[in-house]
Parts: sequence; structure tokens; C-alpha cells
Amino acid sequence: MTLRNGLSVDVEDWFQVGAFETTIRRDDWDGLERRVEANTDRVLDLFAEAGVQGTFFTLGWVAERHPRLIRRIAEAGHEVASHGWDHARVFTLTPDQFRVDLARARAALEDAAGVAVNGYRAPSFSIDRRTPWAHAVLAEAGYCYSSSIAPIAHDHYGWPDAPRVPFRPLPDARLIELPITIARVLGREVTAGGGFFRLLPHGVTDRAVRVANAGDEAAIFYFHPWEIDPGQPRVAGAPLKSRLRHYARLGAMAGKLRRLIAAHRWGRMDAVAERAAERLA
Ligand SMILES: [Zn+2]
Repeated sequence: MTLRNGLSVDVEDWFQVGAFETTIRRDDWDGLERRVEANTDRVLDLFAEAGVQGTFFTLGWVAERHPRLIRRIAEAGHEVASHGWDHARVFTLTPDQFRVDLARARAALEDAAGVAVNGYRAPSFSIDRRTPWAHAVLAEAGYCYSSSIAPIAHDHYGWPDAPRVPFRPLPDARLIELPITIARVLGREVTAGGGFFRLLPHGVTDRAVRVANAGDEAAIFYFHPWEIDPGQPRVAGAPLKSRLRHYARLGAMAGKLRRLIAAHRWGRMDAVAERAAERLA
């Protein structure tokens, strides 16, 4: 099977990110300007222009309010997958709450998309050593794969001793975990995607993809629709560090994405999981 890297988009709005969790309450979300549909349409255009397909890990909250967007994602040949209901990080939930969150999100996504949802990404890579039960809950719910682990140390997330290549987290289930690819810069390790991709030079992520591919592994890359939206409202009350991370280089993002996408082969995450499953069999 041809090696294609995993191209993934975490579909959430500008006010739903972990960095603003302490500043914007979930109860207030419905009163805020929604930009996710227009931004995701720009991502769809960018992918169409590049002739690539990818996976859209989408919040159930977004699917419930923008069902036609979810339908357009599926109709363009992309994979619709789950990012949970409202971005509650897995380590803040009990196993039962996680089950409910997964089921509610999947129902909204499948209703809107008209296709089955088989993949999951935890909000802010929040499956870590605090949640030893999480993969079992995913397997029991019938998911084929998860891409929910950042195998590094970071202030908001990370599971530094987790494997860095696809693995089966449970001995008795087919579920595959596809950890996010790690890039190196100045002796430090960062995730290949999101804010680090936006803030650091193109070469950092580009090199991480090349290193993975040289080892016959698919790289897993991710970003968010709000990252290509320089016009989004500014959250004044958020911590300075969060604001610096969130707002830097938004205007450069679309161009950087085009360049990275053109430089490598990309595909849907379910195809990456399928290839991993065959190799791990
Ligand atoms: Zn997210």
C-alpha cells in the first residue's frame, strides 16, 4: 500500500480551544460569533485546490449547529471523525462521562454526515497516563482508531513515554492508536502541527515528515480551521501566553499549509490506520 501521511483538521471554533477554557465559559458559547463554518469551507477549498483528502475530527457541538457543513465534508470525500462533544479533555471525565460524550458526539456527526464515524481524536491530546481506561472505552464503542496521544512533555498535554509509532493499546482489541508526529527544533520536541507549525519555520515540520517517511512510517499532521482566520475576535482576558500562541502568524498559515501539502503525499487517517493494522497484524 502506498505510504500517505495523515492529514487531519480538528474542527472547533475560535472560542472552543483549550487555551481559553478558563476565560470563556461553555454556557456562553452560544452567544459568540460562529466562524467555524466559513473557516472550514476555506480548508475544504484549500484541500480541493491541492487535490488531497483528509480527516476532519469534529466536535459534536459543531455538527449539531452546522449539519450542512458536515455533509459537505463527507461529500468531498473526506473522513468525518469525532473530536468529542464540547472539547472536554478526557482526563477531566470519568469513564462513564467519556462514554456519554463519545456517544452524543457520534450521533450528531453521523446524523449530519450520513456515514459511519470510526475515528476519534481526544481534545488537546488528553489521553495520557491519567486515563488508562480511555482506549478500552473507545474499543467497546467500536472505534477503529484513535489519534489522541502526544508522546512528548508539554505544559498543556503529553504522555512522554507513549510509543511514537502506531500501536495497539489493548492486547485484546483491534483498536489502533496513531500518536501525533513529533518534530525537533533546537534540541526541543514539539508536535508536528497546530501552533508549532504556525509559529516555527516550514522546515521543522517538513523535516519531521521526511524522517517519518524515511522510516516507512506515515507522519500525522494536524491544524485547526481558526488558524487560517486572522479576522477572528480577540479574547482580551486570556493569559498572555495563550494569546501569544493563539494569534501569532494567523495570516501566514494558509500559505504554509499549501506549501507543506504540496511537498508530501497525504490522505485520510482511516487509511493510515488501515495500513498500520495490516503491518501490526
Ligand atoms: Zn481541539
